[in-house]
Amino acid sequence: MNETASFGYRDVPAEEKVGLVGQVFSSVALRYDIMNDAMSVGAHRLWKDQFVRRVKPRAGEAILDMAGGTGDIAFRMHKAGAAVTVSDINPDMLGVGMERAKKRGLDGLLWSEQNAETLSFADRQYDAYTIAFGIRNVTDIPAALREAHRVLKFGGRFFCLEFSTTLWPGFAEVYDAYSHHLVPKLGKLLAHDEDSYRYLIESIRRFPDMATFATMIREAGFTQVKAEPILGGLVAIHSGWKA
Ligand code: SAM
Repeated sequence: MNETASFGYRDVPAEEKVGLVGQVFSSVALRYDIMNDAMSVGAHRLWKDQFVRRVKPRAGEAILDMAGGTGDIAFRMHKAGAAVTVSDINPDMLGVGMERAKKRGLDGLLWSEQNAETLSFADRQYDAYTIAFGIRNVTDIPAALREAHRVLKFGGRFFCLEFSTTLWPGFAEVYDAYSHHLVPKLGKLLAHDEDSYRYLIESIRRFPDMATFATMIREAGFTQVKAEPILGGLVAIHSGWKA
């Protein structure tokens, strides 16, 4: 692993990133869902719907939703009848997720505190692995991708939803101005936490572009690697297959 890791626009000693990211998500956990709606004007719901349509969860399939946070992706896949394990490194995010599941009467989800880089699950356990808006927070992304590959069965599918770089002329500038100026202000107003939302925006900028990330997915052993851009690549659905 590199000795430094990006934490937003800062480079920090790699071993410190996990704690800093932990503080961000512990701080935002209780306001996480309302902030997602506010920041994306509800659009994250459509991106998540589109993502889960790509995953095509089927009844009885074992699916690991990594960095599953408060459960948005897992709940959608659970409704399709899949046996979903929601994993996240942050107990505060999982706690909010479990509470939400209870309120919605969703039974049967498994919840498991895990670091995506070092999963405690056995090899070849899952039919699909999903990670939405999570991978850019991981310190050692290649390690997390190798773990995803390890826990998937042969023929298993990998799916990642993540912010990327929009290639639509003009839109990038507008989005940049919005995200750098307005999102931290929204964070201050709604979640009383400007710094965490500044990190979330900065971490988007530091994340590799679609082609570079596709190469990383291939290097982890996946084949048929694809990237499907949404809004010109502002967000992208990455996928791969364990042959
Ligand atoms: N997937 C959810 C969604 O789409 O709403 C939550 C996404 S949230 C932006 C990112 C999540 O990644 C947080 O819950 C955070 O705790 C988790 N995370 C960060 N680093 C992680 C790691 N190394 N292993 C597992 N989860 C991690």
